[in-house]
Amino acid sequence: MTGRAVTGRVTTGRALIVLLWLAATLLPALAGTAPARAAPLELVAGDAPLSLAGHMELLRGAPGEDRSLAEVLARESAFTPLPGVLGLGFTKDPAWVRVRIHRPDGDRSRWTLELAPPVLDRADVYVATTDAPAGPSDFQHHRVGAEVPVAAWPIPSSTFLLPLDLPPGATRDVYVRVATQTSMMLRGSVYTAPALVDTVSGRTLWYGFVYGAFALAVLFNLVCFAWLRDPSHLLYACYVLSLTLNHLTVTGTLPYLLPGLPAAASKLWLCAGGLLTGCFADLFVIRVLRLRRLMPLAALCLLCTASARPVSLVLTALGDYRSGAVLIQLLGMVSVVTFLAAATRLAWRRDVQAQRFLIAFTPAILGAAVTMLRALGVLPSTVLTEQLYFAGCLFHVVLINISMMTRIRDAELAKQEAQAAALAASHVAEERARRVIEAQTREIRDAKREVEAALAAERAAIRDQLQFIDMIAHEYRTPVSVIRAALDVMDMRPTANGPAPADLVVRMRRSLDRLVEVIEVGLRRDRLDQPGLSIESKPLDVVEIAREAVGEVAQDGPPVRLVGAGAGAGPVRARGDAALLRTAVLNLLDNARKYGPKDQPVDVDVRLEGAFAVVRVIDRGTGVPEHARDRIFEKYYRTTASRAVPGVGLGLYLVRKIATFHGGDLDLETAGAGGSVFRLRLPALVPAGPAVADASAGAPGPTAGD
Ligand code: ADP
Repeated sequence: MTGRAVTGRVTTGRALIVLLWLAATLLPALAGTAPARAAPLELVAGDAPLSLAGHMELLRGAPGEDRSLAEVLARESAFTPLPGVLGLGFTKDPAWVRVRIHRPDGDRSRWTLELAPPVLDRADVYVATTDAPAGPSDFQHHRVGAEVPVAAWPIPSSTFLLPLDLPPGATRDVYVRVATQTSMMLRGSVYTAPALVDTVSGRTLWYGFVYGAFALAVLFNLVCFAWLRDPSHLLYACYVLSLTLNHLTVTGTLPYLLPGLPAAASKLWLCAGGLLTGCFADLFVIRVLRLRRLMPLAALCLLCTASARPVSLVLTALGDYRSGAVLIQLLGMVSVVTFLAAATRLAWRRDVQAQRFLIAFTPAILGAAVTMLRALGVLPSTVLTEQLYFAGCLFHVVLINISMMTRIRDAELAKQEAQAAALAASHVAEERARRVIEAQTREIRDAKREVEAALAAERAAIRDQLQFIDMIAHEYRTPVSVIRAALDVMDMRPTANGPAPADLVVRMRRSLDRLVEVIEVGLRRDRLDQPGLSIESKPLDVVEIAREAVGEVAQDGPPVRLVGAGAGAGPVRARGDAALLRTAVLNLLDNARKYGPKDQPVDVDVRLEGAFAVVRVIDRGTGVPEHARDRIFEKYYRTTASRAVPGVGLGLYLVRKIATFHGGDLDLETAGAGGSVFRLRLPALVPAGPAVADASAGAPGPTAGD
C-alpha cells in the first residue's frame, strides 16, 4: 500500500469521526427551537415514573471551561431548555443540567430521583434547600458515578438513586454537573416509592431473564464443545460470556454486584466487555461461516478488526477511554459491514448456515446501531433505546443458539448419511472380496488337482520303470545261471582235450560273479536315483569288503596293498550292503589304478576313526586339479586330463550315493601333485570310546617312499 493511500484512508477516517461528532452535537440542537425556560416538573403521585425529559435545561461553557456551582448560579439565565434528554456524544467538557421541581401542597409521597446511564464517570447533584437559594451553601450536595465508590452513593444501587426530600408546596432547583469520558448523556426520572419498587423489580426481572438466557446459552455451548470438540461452540460460549460482561458493565450491575472492584478500573471493565464481545463475534463468524475457505478476504478483514480491538484497552489503560470507545465503534462498523456483505453473499449462494446467521445477527446489529447512535448523541438516551439493545441481543442469542442446534442436527444427519454410505461401500467391498476369494479358491483347487494328477502320472511312470528294470535283471540272471551250470559241468567232467585247467575255471567263475554283480549294481545305479530305494543292511567287516575288492582287481597294472587295519589289526565293523560297498571300493580302486602310474602301488587303508569306519584309497598319480575337486562327484563329469583314459564319469557319483545311503560320505582328502586320497566313511558298529585311540593315529597319505 502506498503512503498516499494510507494518508487518504486516515483522512477519510478522521472526516468520518468529525462528521459523527458534528451530528452528535448539532442534531439535538436542530431538533426544535427551545422555549426560554423549561417547565418545572410537577410531582404528581402515581404508579408511573415521572421523566425529567422536557424539564431539563443545559449550560455549556466554552471548550475547556469547568465552572463551579457559584459561577453557574451567577449565570442562571445562560441555561437553555433541552427538548428531550441530554445527549452530547463524546465530549471532554463537563456539562451543567438544571431541573426545576415542584412538590404540590398536601403531597405525602416519598420521592426518589434516578439518574442514568450508570456508566457516567461522575455526577455532582446539588438540590436546593430553599425556593430562592442565595448561594452554594443553600444546596445539598450528592455524589454519584462509576468512578465514585458505590458505598459513597446516597442509595447504593445498580443505577444512581438519590432521595428527593422537598417540603410540600416547595419549588426547588436541582443542578447536576456531569463529567465523563463515556458518551455525555443524562436522563432521569422521579419515582414515588411504589413506582420505584415496580420499576426496579421489573428491570431486575428483565435482566434476570436476559442473563438466564445468556447463562443457558453458555452452558449449552460448553457442553456441546466438550461433547463434539467443535471450537465453534467454545467461541460462541466465549462470545456470550463477553456479551454478558458488556451488559453487566453497561447496566451498572457489575460494580453493584462486586462493590470491591476499584471504581477507577470501571472504564477498563467497560472497554474489556465491548472489545471481547467484538473479538469473539469476529472469530465466531469466521469459523461458523467457513470464511477462511469460502471468502478469504472477508476472513482477513475480520481477523484484522479482531486483532485491532485490544488497542482500545491500551488507550483506556492510558487514560483515554474516549479514543478507545471511538475505535471500538469504528472497528465494530467495519466488522458489521464485512459480516453483512459476506453473509449476504453466501446466503445468496444458498448457504443455509449463512442465511440463518444473517437473520440471527440482524437484531443484535440493529441494537448495536441504536446504542452507537445513542452514544454519539444522535438518538436520545431513553429507556427504550437502551433496552432495545438488550432485547436485540437476547433475540440474537436465542436465534444463534437455535442455529447452533440446527447445525448439530445437520451434522448428525450428515454423519448418519456418511455412515450409511460407508456401510453400503463396505458391503460392496465385502461382496467383491468374497467373489475374489471364491475365484482364487477355485483356482487353487484346480491347480491342486493338476499337481495331484501329475504326481500320480509320475509315480506310475516310476513304477513302470522299476518293473522294466526288474524284468531285465531277471532276463540277465537266466543266461548267467546257464553259463554257471555249464562251468560246473566243465569242472566235473573232463572234455576230449583233457580236464579244463582248474585256475582257468576259477577265473572264469570269478569273472562271471563279477559280471553278475556289475549287472546288478548297474541296474541298481539307476535305481539309486529313485526315491524309496531300500538297501540290504547287515553287520559286516569293512576290512573283509576291502580285501575282497582287492582280490578282484586285475593282476596286470599297479599292485594294490592293504594297509592299516586291513594289514591284520582286526575287523572294522559296520552295517551295510556288502555288494554295494564292494562295488564302491572297487570303483575307487579302478580309478586309482586308471589315473595312477603303472609302476607305483595303490594302497587301501581301512581303520576305525571315532564313530566311523574309514576306507582310504591312496594312489600316487597326478592328482585332481583344484577347480575340479568338487565337480568330479557330479554325474558324467570328467577332467580334461582324463579324457584319454576310458570312462563315463559315473563312478565317483555312484560311490558317493552308496556312501550317503549308508549314512556316511565320500570326499577327496588329498588332491596334490603327489597323488589322490579318496576317503569313504561309514558309521561304525563299535562303541565310540575305544575307537578314539584309533582315530588319534594320523590319517595316512601318499608318500613318495611307499
Ligand atoms: P571315470 O573314471 O569313469 O571318468 P569317475 O566318476 O570315476 O569317472 O571319475 C571322475 C573323474 O575324476 C575322472 O574322469 C578323473 O578325471 C577324476 N578322477 C577320479 N579318480 C581319480 C584319481 N584317483 N586320480 C586322478 N583323477 C581321478
